[in-house]
Amino acid sequence: MTESVSSAKAQRYPIDPDIRSRAWLDEAQYHEMYQRSIEDPDGFWREQAKTLAWFREPETISRSTFSANGTDIRWFEDGTLNAAWNCLDRHLETRGDQPAIIWEGDDPADTLTLSFRELHARVGQCANALKSLGVSRGDTVTLYMPMVPEAAIAMLACARIGALHSVVFGGFSPDALAGRVQDSGSRVVITADESVRGGKHIPLKDNVDEALSREGTEIVEHVLVVRRTGGEVAWHDRDRWYHEVVDGQSDECPAEELGAEEGLFILYTSGSTGKPKGLKHTIGGYLLYTSMTHRYVFDYHDGDVYWCAADVGWITGHSYIVYGPLANGATTLMFEGVPSYPTHGRIGEVIDRHGVNILYTSPTAVRALMAHGEHIMDSSSRDSLRILGSVGEPINPEAWSWFHRVVGNGRCPIMDTWWQTETGGHMITPLPGFSEIKPGSAMKPFFGVQPALYDNEGNRLEGEASGNLVIEASWPGQARTIWHNHERFEQTYFAMHEGVYFTGDGARRDADGDYWITGRIDDVLNVSGHRLGTAEIESSLVAHEAVAEAAVVGYPHDVKGQGIYIYVTLADGVTPSEELRKELITQVRHDIGPIATPDIIQWAPGLPKTRSGKIMRRILRKIASNELDGLGDTSTLADPTVVEELIEHRPR
Ligand code: ATP
Ligand code: MG
Repeated sequence: MTESVSSAKAQRYPIDPDIRSRAWLDEAQYHEMYQRSIEDPDGFWREQAKTLAWFREPETISRSTFSANGTDIRWFEDGTLNAAWNCLDRHLETRGDQPAIIWEGDDPADTLTLSFRELHARVGQCANALKSLGVSRGDTVTLYMPMVPEAAIAMLACARIGALHSVVFGGFSPDALAGRVQDSGSRVVITADESVRGGKHIPLKDNVDEALSREGTEIVEHVLVVRRTGGEVAWHDRDRWYHEVVDGQSDECPAEELGAEEGLFILYTSGSTGKPKGLKHTIGGYLLYTSMTHRYVFDYHDGDVYWCAADVGWITGHSYIVYGPLANGATTLMFEGVPSYPTHGRIGEVIDRHGVNILYTSPTAVRALMAHGEHIMDSSSRDSLRILGSVGEPINPEAWSWFHRVVGNGRCPIMDTWWQTETGGHMITPLPGFSEIKPGSAMKPFFGVQPALYDNEGNRLEGEASGNLVIEASWPGQARTIWHNHERFEQTYFAMHEGVYFTGDGARRDADGDYWITGRIDDVLNVSGHRLGTAEIESSLVAHEAVAEAAVVGYPHDVKGQGIYIYVTLADGVTPSEELRKELITQVRHDIGPIATPDIIQWAPGLPKTRSGKIMRRILRKIASNELDGLGDTSTLADPTVVEELIEHRPR
């Protein structure tokens, strides 16, 4: 579907023999185990389910149907368990004194370590506090929190008593928060006075007050406020200090025996494409899938220090800061700050300070580091690192090599993990035991995952091909529904191609059977009848040393159908010029072909991004097409002024 040349010249990196030999699985074992997971899914998952602690082990493994009218997804439905028990209680005997959470605050001097025993006690107290506020099994609780241990504690406290948490990223506006509180129907909100990022204070409690003045949020009875900064806050009857309600509670709170298909949480998608969807995940399948992917994809072994630099407000934070690692008894690092504060060397310094072995971050974070130059890594050795991970967007080869060479000292393989809020955990990813990896390719399906490529007419494409990426059978980590809107769930994911899960992303499969995610299907360009992926054009641009970041969209073009409109953010200290414009055009023509010749280049001091750092091409498309009235839902935009700036300086 997409024109492509990059597969032919795809680079390959052999994985370091020491890292490979340490890995849980080598390549042959992966293939053998994958085969088993597809041929005998029930047998495979029955065996894997034994890695969790069940109150009652499941007899029934999976009963799932995918259909536009009648999607029903169930795993381990007659089993009972508790996610908090799995993340805490079962580790007390063997690793009670091992750090469960290492927290580093925005100020590097601010750190806190909680052992499994301490975390267990705090979760018990918080769970009892929630009960005292009338929260019980099946209720939802909204968390609007900074990256402090209380965020993880509150999540696990909900899980302990069978309440569902709905975490709303602390960077969202009062309006975005209000919509999510209303949709989830939470009677309790947990927040903090302020959050701190890069030395700046963000008034979380004020935002909650404003959100709760909106219509539809009257349902909220209690707001628990963590004292993070001591900053001044207004006070209402419904407000209680977290420490006043929690600290006096008993440590002991029995973990509810819950059905595997009871709800664990609701999480709204990051909103790159439209109105956020409140995806519901359930306990058993999700916990098994996240712990298993965490163990194999990051090759987690006892004693490793693991750092996922996402925010708990995203699925990455849920699955790979909290549930996956803690279920495995891992030490998980929680970082409150930003990579650029107090200096651009912060990431490396955090790694050295805590001896981090595994680092999981995003292409957008890597590109932000790259823009400042390699010397920012001089303040750290990062010798402890073994495995790197990437998630969120396609990682362009340029950012891949920088991450690999500069951050990982050329030693650490990068796991480019493709997955979604909807999938719960990693779906397509390399493993550390593979003999080699290809920069820019997410490579192989995880156990039980059956990816396939379809064309728009619904034909299943075989062999080397490009098309719509679908998943042909259920896997345990899959979201079960959209909260209070099962019909939207079915229409969004199961109506495009009957009988399979439609991801919304495009992908290419190369001759080795490796998958390359080409971007969202909505973002594919059709230039003179040729389908071009935005990811490839952007990769070509970012490979130029003057370019920090680039976004490519289509706009209506009289002759070609769609023209290629490019937004370019230049690296630190580079000024735009006509000469540079020509160089960039030449570079894209050379890398991809004359068909991809850019029509318009706009110099963009910043790009519109979601709060999770993803480029919102939907808005860029509108600007390029001059459709300024219908910018759509902009509530998830990180910095609205960026959009105004781009509109004002359009080159036409
Ligand atoms: P919305 O669904 O509301 O538009 P979103 O898709 O950005 O928001 P997420 O679930 O956080 O919300 O992101 C999943 C998407 O991110 C994937 O569908 C894919 O487009 C992109 N993505 C994630 N990881 C990768 C990766 N490793 N390579 C390429 N793309 C990725
Ligand atoms: Mg999505």
